[in-house]
Amino acid sequence: MSSKQYVVIGLGRFGTSVAKTLYALGNDVLAIDQSEDNVQSISDSVTHAVQADATDENALRALGIRNFDVAVIAIGVDIQSSIMITLLAKELGVKYVIAKAQNELHAKVLYRIGADRVVFPERDMGVRVAHNLVSSNILDYIELSPDYSIVEIAVISQWVGKTLKELNMRANYGINVMAIKRGSEINISPSAEDIINDGDILVVIGGTEELNKIEKVKT
Ligand code: ADP
Repeated sequence: MSSKQYVVIGLGRFGTSVAKTLYALGNDVLAIDQSEDNVQSISDSVTHAVQADATDENALRALGIRNFDVAVIAIGVDIQSSIMITLLAKELGVKYVIAKAQNELHAKVLYRIGADRVVFPERDMGVRVAHNLVSSNILDYIELSPDYSIVEIAVISQWVGKTLKELNMRANYGINVMAIKRGSEINISPSAEDIINDGDILVVIGGTEELNKIEKVKT
C-alpha cells in the first residue's frame, strides 16, 4: 500500500477516528477543525493539526488543499458547512472527496456538488451491529450496495471437513468465498480443494437476500 496525503476536515468522533487511523497506517494526514480543543487533542496523532474555519476558501488555499489526494469532510451536524466545504474541496482541485452525511437528502446534495463518495457512519455501524447481534455466525457485515454485501461468517458445523468444491457455495447459497481466515493466517485465493476446518472464518460476497438466508442458519 503506497502512502497518500489525506486532509480530514472536522474532528468530531468520526473525523478523529479516521484521521488517527490513516496516520497510524503510515499516511500523511492534515487534520483541520475550527475548535482549538479538538486540534490540540489530535496533534500528536497526525502529521499536522491546524485550527481553521474550513468554509473560508482562502484558509483552505493557504493550507494547500489542492495538493491532497483525498479529503474527508467529516462534518455531520452542521449541514451547511459540510456542503460548502465539500464544494470548495472539489473546486480547489482535490481529486477524491469523501463526505459524511447525516441523512439521505444531505447525501444527495453532496453527490450533486461533486462528492466522490458519501458515507453514513452511524447508519452503517448500526446495520453492522444489528447483523452481528441477530446472528451468532455473522461476525462482520459490510454493505457494498443495497443489493450486495461482504460478510464474515464463522463456519457452521455441517461445513467442517468438506472442501469448497463439495460445499458448492455458489450453487447452494448463491455466495462466493473470497478468503478463509484461520487463526492469524488468511488465505485470499482459496481453491476448490481447500478443506474447511472448525473455527475457520469465511469472507464471502453475495446478494443481500442470499446472505440473509445464511444468517438464519444456526451453527
Ligand atoms: P461527529 O458526529 O463525528 O462527532 P460532528 O458533526 O459532531 O461529527 O463534528 C463535526 C466537527 O467539525 C466538530 O468538531 C466541529 O468543530 C467541526 N467543524 C464544523 N464546522 C467546521 C468548519 N466550518 N471548519 C472546521 N471545522 C468545522
